[in-house]
Amino acid sequence: MGGLRGPISPLWFGAVLFGLLLLANALSTSLSRAESLDYSAFKSLLAQGRVAEVQISTDVIRGRYQDADGTQRDFTAIRVEDPKLAEQLDEHKVRYAGEIRSEWLGQLLGWIFPVLLIIGLWVFFFRRMSGAEGGIMSFARSRAKIYSEDDVKVSFADVAGADEATEELREIVEFLKTPTKYTTLGGRIPRGVMLVGPPGTGKTLLARAVAGEAKVPFFSLSGSEFVEMFVGVGAARVRDLFKQADAKAPCIVFIDELDALGKARQQSPMGGHEEREQTLNQLLSEMDGFDAKKGVIVMAATNRPEVLDPALLRPGRFDRRVLVDRPDVKGREAILRIHAKTVKLAAGVDLGLIAARTGGFAGADLANLVNEAALLAARRDKTAVDNADFDEAIDRVVAGLEKKRAMNPHIRRVIAVHEMGHAIVATDLPGLDPVHKVSIVGRGFGALGYTMQLPTEDRYLRTKTELQHELAVLLGGRTAEQIVFGEMTTGAQNDLMRATDIARAMVTEYGMSESVGPVNHEGRSRPSFLDVDLGPERGVYAEETARLIDGEVKGLIEQAGRTAYDILTARRQVLDGLTDLLLDREVLEGDEVRRRMGMPTTDAPPPSEGPAIVTAQPD
Ligand code: ADP
Ligand code: MG
Ligand code: ZN
Repeated sequence: MGGLRGPISPLWFGAVLFGLLLLANALSTSLSRAESLDYSAFKSLLAQGRVAEVQISTDVIRGRYQDADGTQRDFTAIRVEDPKLAEQLDEHKVRYAGEIRSEWLGQLLGWIFPVLLIIGLWVFFFRRMSGAEGGIMSFARSRAKIYSEDDVKVSFADVAGADEATEELREIVEFLKTPTKYTTLGGRIPRGVMLVGPPGTGKTLLARAVAGEAKVPFFSLSGSEFVEMFVGVGAARVRDLFKQADAKAPCIVFIDELDALGKARQQSPMGGHEEREQTLNQLLSEMDGFDAKKGVIVMAATNRPEVLDPALLRPGRFDRRVLVDRPDVKGREAILRIHAKTVKLAAGVDLGLIAARTGGFAGADLANLVNEAALLAARRDKTAVDNADFDEAIDRVVAGLEKKRAMNPHIRRVIAVHEMGHAIVATDLPGLDPVHKVSIVGRGFGALGYTMQLPTEDRYLRTKTELQHELAVLLGGRTAEQIVFGEMTTGAQNDLMRATDIARAMVTEYGMSESVGPVNHEGRSRPSFLDVDLGPERGVYAEETARLIDGEVKGLIEQAGRTAYDILTARRQVLDGLTDLLLDREVLEGDEVRRRMGMPTTDAPPPSEGPAIVTAQPD
C-alpha cells in the first residue's frame, strides 16, 4: 500500500551507498600499507634530508623516505598547521605536490552523502504520505480505497448480535437503493450516520455491510490517515474524497476512527491541533455543502463519542447515531455460529455454552476465539475442533484481553448496583433525557458498565434545576453502592469528574451560585455545553474567590448526593429487583426500568438530535 515496500527504497539505497564508500576508504588506506609517523618525526626526517617526496592533502601528508639502511619506505603523517613547510621542502629539494585524492572522498562522505540522505528521507516521507502510486504531484490525493460494487461482499448476514444497529441501518440501505423514492416526497435524507461502540463490535463490518447490501461503492478512510504532518494535506484529502464520492453517487463514504479527526477543538499548548482543525473544518463544510439528494451517505465510526467535537453532531451532519454494542449471550452465540461456519466442529461442541462463558467478548474477540481454537486443533492433528480446544482458546483470548472479562460475581454485582443507581435517579427526576439502556455487558465505551440516556429534543438552554438533576444522576451510581454495600469503589471516578465539571461551570460560568454571584470567572465561552474538556486552565480571580468557588462546587455536589440518596433509599426494593434483573439479562431497556418503577413507558425515542449521554463506569 504505502511506499514502505517500494522496489528501491531510498533508505536502502542510502545505506548501501554509505557501506560502499566506507569500504572504498578502508581499501585505499590499507592498500598503501604506509607507516604512520608523528608530524614531529616527519619533520626530523625532513631536517635530516631523508624525505624523498610527499603529497600533501588538506589533512594528510603521504610520502616516501629513506630509512637507516637506505631502503625507501612509504609513510603517512597527519598534517599540522605549518606555514613554513613548503619553504623547508624546497630547501631540502623534496619533490612535493598537492593531492586531492582523499579530498573527494571526504567531500562525498561529509557533504554529498548527507544531502543524499536528506533527499532520500524526503522522498520516503512523501511516498508514505501519498501512497505508492501517488507521485509527488498527487500527494494531496485522498488515500481512500475504492471498493467497487462487487468488491464489498459483506452483507448483514455476516453481522450478528447487533440487531438494533442492523435494523436502523436497513433504512439507510433502502435509501441508497432508491434515493428518489424518498426525495420526491420532500423528505430529508440523513447525511451522516455515526456508529458508536466499543472496539471490535463490528462497526467497520456494519459499514461495509451497508455498502454490500445496497450494492454501492464504498470509500473508506481512517481518521488517523487524515491527520498528517504537513498542514493542508488533510483538508485537501477531504476535498478530494468528497469529489470522488460525488462522481460515484450513490455511495458511502466511511470515516473510521472519527475521534482521531473530530476531537473537540481545544487549545493545545503545542499548537499541533491546527492541521486537525483545518481537516475537521473541511469535513464539516463538505458535509454541509454536498447535495444530499444525490445519495452520498457519510458513515463514521468511533469508540470515543465523548471526545468528538460537538459541531460534528449538529443536524445535517452526523445526525444519526447508531449504537453498536457488545453482544449479549444470544448475540454471542449467533456470532460464534457465523465464524464457526468455516471450521469443522466436533460433535459435542455446544456454541450456546461457549457463548455463556464468554461474557464481555466483542465480535472481534469471538472471531479470534474460533480461529484460535481451530489453530489449536490443527496443532494437535485433530480432524475437528472439539470442546477442549475451545476451553483452551477461551483461556488464551481472555488472557490476551487486557482485563479478564469473565468477571468475579461480586464485582459484577457492584457494577450492576452502580448502573441501576444512575438509571433509577435519571428516571425518577423530571426533565432529564430518558434512560435508553443500562448495560453491564462489558467494557463498552472503555467502561465496565454504562447507563445511556438519549435526548428526545434539542436542548438550547438548560435550567439550574436540570443541571442539579444531572448532578444527582452522576452521583446516583456511587450513592447506590454506598446504600447497598456500605462502601464505595473507585468506579465512580469518571462520574465525579463530570459532576465536578458541571458544578464548576454552574458556579463560575453560568452564575448559578448566590454567594459567588452572576460573574463569569472563566473569562471565555465553551464551544458547547460541557462537551469539551477545556483543560485545567482557569480564569483570573482572587485566592479568596477560588476558595469560595471550591466551597460552592462542593456544596452543589453534596446536595446532589443527598438527592440521589433520598431517591434510592425510597426505591430500595426496586433497586434490588432491577439489579437482579440486570445481572440476569446483562442489558436492560429503558422501558423495563420505567415499568418497574411505575413510571410511564415511552416508546424508545428516536436516537437523533443531540449527543447521547453515557454514564460509564471506567475500569
Ligand atoms: P470495529 O470496527 O467495531 O472495531 P470490526 O468491524 O473491525 O470492529 O470487527 C473486526 C472483526 O470482528 C470483523 O471483521 C468480524 O470478523 C468480527 N466481528 C466483529 N463484530 C462482529 C459481529 N457483530 N458479527 C460478526 N462478526 C463480527
Ligand atoms: Mg473498526
Ligand atoms: Zn457511574
